[in-house]
Amino acid sequence: MPALPADRSEAVFADFKPALDDNQARVEAHRCLYCHDAPCIRACPTSIDIPGFIRKIATGNLTGSARTIFESNVLGMSCARVCPVEVLCVGDCVYNHMGVPPIQIGKLQRYATDHAYRQGTRFWQAGPDTGRSVGLVGAGPASLACAHRLRRFGHAVTIYEAREVLGGLNSTGIAPYKMPADRAIEEVDWVRSIGGIEVQTGVNVPTDLGWAELEQRHDALFIGIGLGPDSRLQARGEHLQGIHGAVDWIERMKLGKVDVSKVQTAVVIGGGNTAIDAVRELLGLGVSYVKLLYRGVEAGMPGYAHEWASAKKEGARVVWRVQPLGFEGHGGRVTAVRCMRLDRNKQPIEGSEHTIAADLVLLAIGQGKLGGLVSGLDGVQVEGGRIVADAAGATGRPGVYAGGDCVNGGQEVVNAVAMGRDAAVAIHSFLSAGGR
Ligand SMILES: Cc1cc2nc3c(=O)[nH]c(=O)nc-3n(C[C@H](O)[C@H](O)[C@H](O)COP(=O)(O)OP(=O)(O)OC[C@H]3O[C@@H](n4cnc5c(N)ncnc54)[C@H](O)[C@@H]3O)c2cc1C
Ligand code: SF4
Repeated sequence: MPALPADRSEAVFADFKPALDDNQARVEAHRCLYCHDAPCIRACPTSIDIPGFIRKIATGNLTGSARTIFESNVLGMSCARVCPVEVLCVGDCVYNHMGVPPIQIGKLQRYATDHAYRQGTRFWQAGPDTGRSVGLVGAGPASLACAHRLRRFGHAVTIYEAREVLGGLNSTGIAPYKMPADRAIEEVDWVRSIGGIEVQTGVNVPTDLGWAELEQRHDALFIGIGLGPDSRLQARGEHLQGIHGAVDWIERMKLGKVDVSKVQTAVVIGGGNTAIDAVRELLGLGVSYVKLLYRGVEAGMPGYAHEWASAKKEGARVVWRVQPLGFEGHGGRVTAVRCMRLDRNKQPIEGSEHTIAADLVLLAIGQGKLGGLVSGLDGVQVEGGRIVADAAGATGRPGVYAGGDCVNGGQEVVNAVAMGRDAAVAIHSFLSAGGR
């Protein structure tokens, strides 16, 4: 994997949730009620034993605490930083019903997992060789969690990844104030340190390596290809310079350099979490005027309210109920977004056409789905672009499993980890029962 440049654009961002020190962590851990029927565990897609790991922090057993976390979620270090805990474990902590601040579970998880990384503790070794081999497509959180668990069972594992950088969106998409790309890559190395997780980068499946060949090489397959490129508006002038898909732009900002030094007004189109991240990233890079254009109103935004509240505090501006119609430019570069106002029912208001100045536009209106890539695999169903798989990750084709965003349509890192881990258990059962 190539080294990331030290002067990449994301390097200017500071950590937005500073780590707890020893004293803060001990005090916070002692506040936990160690609930018998802990709602925080139910709220965690990987079902981490949260009171269990917090109790170990309280008793000073940090290594044991980290082990409890990693047993359920091998990407527990990044999830401690990127999970939207406000709507998951922390949001369900019983203290919320008592008018008392909830336990800072994410920060405690970070405290314990960072300790294990600092100590270099690995916890697991690969199981005895089973003579079976699994091919995984994509090197994002879903495949990494699946690969690690498969190695614990003793199966040989090879990951085929289209990019040169491993980690999927954890490396290329996460807002840098939550976690920079080098930390995500450090986690990939940590996961791979179990040994035997072979990786082939620059392999686009099925263009460079077909499904038939993959099935010949391996006894089972796991598909963790995530989502596709940014959706486009298909509007007039969209080809102009200065208009980018948000996920594509974020990847360039994280892994290399984006130049915003001459940008006076940036516009982000969309209302989801990627749109909010893009707004905050532009503000953090020093663009003074960043405007979100959204078709609905604040209450209906799909992005998290706590993230939008932070964006507003940082200076985000917004135009509600507006529909972009196209783009205007000068000398081949975008200068404005042509828009129309929408009524309460999101219907265009006649005669409301106007322009909003912009010299940078990021489109955050969703990502395409990659289900079409599996058309060569008879029996694997695709619905609305998503690969259809059961709760254990099994598709309609024996020995072919799938998980993460390509199945759930795009959720969080922690959901992808849970799906990859559970698929590994199902693959192990399949292979133990004789396989194909
Ligand atoms: C901008 C952005 C910000 C986000 N922020 C957060 C956040 O703060 N917290 C959070 O929990 N979640 C966040 N998410 C969501 C989270 O990143 C995803 O849910 C998670 O990464 C999904 O993991 P995955 O393994 O399914 O897919 P991905 O992470 O997308 O990984 C898929 C991998 O497959 C590779 N691939 C694709 N096609 C092929 C092919 N044909 N052949 C070979 N390889 C292929 C890709 O290059 C990629 O490396 C964010 C998403 C985006 C877009
Ligand atoms: S719900 Fe809150 S208090 Fe109860 S175990 Fe979970 S973190 Fe501790």
